[in-house]
Amino acid sequence: MTARLAIYGGPAVRTRDWPTWPQPAPGAEAALREVLRSGRWSISGPYQGADSADRRFARRFADYHRIAHCVPAASGTASLMMALEACGIGAGDEVVTPALSWVASASTIAGVNAIPVFADIDPDTLCMSVASAEGSITPATRAIVVVHLYSALADLRGLTALAERYGIALIEDCSQAHGAAYEGRKVGTFGRVGAFSMHHTKVLTSGEGGAAITADPELARRLQYLRADGRRYLDLAPARGQPELLECNELMGNNRALSEFQSALLIEQLTQLDAQNAVRRRNAAWLDARLRQIGFAPQQTAAGTSERTYFGYAVALPEALADIDPAVFAQAVGAELGLPVRPIYAPLHRNVLYAPSTRRRFHIDPAHLDRLDPRRFRLPEAERAARRTVVFHHSALLGEESDMADIAEAFARVHANADALRTRPGDAHSRAAGRPDGSAQAAATPAVSARA
Ligand SMILES: *Cc1c(COP(=O)(O)O)cnc(C)c1O
Repeated sequence: MTARLAIYGGPAVRTRDWPTWPQPAPGAEAALREVLRSGRWSISGPYQGADSADRRFARRFADYHRIAHCVPAASGTASLMMALEACGIGAGDEVVTPALSWVASASTIAGVNAIPVFADIDPDTLCMSVASAEGSITPATRAIVVVHLYSALADLRGLTALAERYGIALIEDCSQAHGAAYEGRKVGTFGRVGAFSMHHTKVLTSGEGGAAITADPELARRLQYLRADGRRYLDLAPARGQPELLECNELMGNNRALSEFQSALLIEQLTQLDAQNAVRRRNAAWLDARLRQIGFAPQQTAAGTSERTYFGYAVALPEALADIDPAVFAQAVGAELGLPVRPIYAPLHRNVLYAPSTRRRFHIDPAHLDRLDPRRFRLPEAERAARRTVVFHHSALLGEESDMADIAEAFARVHANADALRTRPGDAHSRAAGRPDGSAQAAATPAVSARA
């Protein structure tokens, strides 16, 4: 049963290319050209007699979610900070968020001068555990930011009930779940605000971009102010050539506006989202079945999920491979496939990217820095998951069943030859990089490659 693994110079399972990402929608070029010649490249540029692309995208994205309001923004980070501040979160407030996520989940909370409090995860879904979230609530808690991670939805029934019981805001970070639905309703509509990223890697993208959606008109106004330096759209369109934004003094903002190019692009990209989500869902289901047969444990989603979507395909290694560094296993599978495979995010209390003390702005006083210190948290489930779970980007799920067969074969081959990963002392890929505490895992996964 032994073969030389590709990571050690053996022949790879696959050398064919993978689907590329991003994939421009059919109308993308024309839409970009139209903005180019429109005389308005920003929402704060002069009104040209027609709705801005920002407004048109906001309408489409709100309608897509069957919700009243959408405020597009420059990034997911911007959208999350707007969501927090629109809900009145600020200095000294505690915000409960999951230990496993992209660093922005924590940095945005710290960024509004609040304190991220990390809740542990459910080991099957990798999303926030309701019990741990409840245990993290203190009198200072003002909000929960839930993240729908990789391909899972969090337990929204449990979390909405929890937020209600404690009278705190629920904000949904849907940056990895565009188009997913829970009990028949799109995610992003369960929280007071739903925040999205349209970064290059995400399933809906304009390179950089974001959006916040809400049912509450008052929150929508606040989101607008926070997004455009305290300005919002006029109630009635102005004369051509005039600014369309009204200057108010209700709430100071920052410029976090999405450019007209990005909004125009998103209108087109949104038309392919459902079809692409369906392809990924079908391929992932096929792969789930194969990988389960050989002992792997693909990520599960919360009961109640009605439309699953895939930003990443995450899978836990079998117990028999518990002694193998997931970074090494991921590299070995990646080498078989010519596809980046990597460990899941390092938990945020040990994540090299989450280092608030490196920023002067957080040195408000020693007590604030102590509260921000991520090392004060104990998060055993997140650590356990990080020690045994690998992930690859959703673009690999956009192909055909034969592509899924290649992926399954690569996992099977590396599994069958796992001894080779154990017995290469001195090799760059050996367990010398291994990490009882997950810390070296972060180091083995450079920031540039850690996004998906
Ligand atoms: C990508 C992402 C963000 C940040 O979005 P940006 O557009 O990169 O600012 C926040 N949260 C999660 C869960 C993400 O995946």
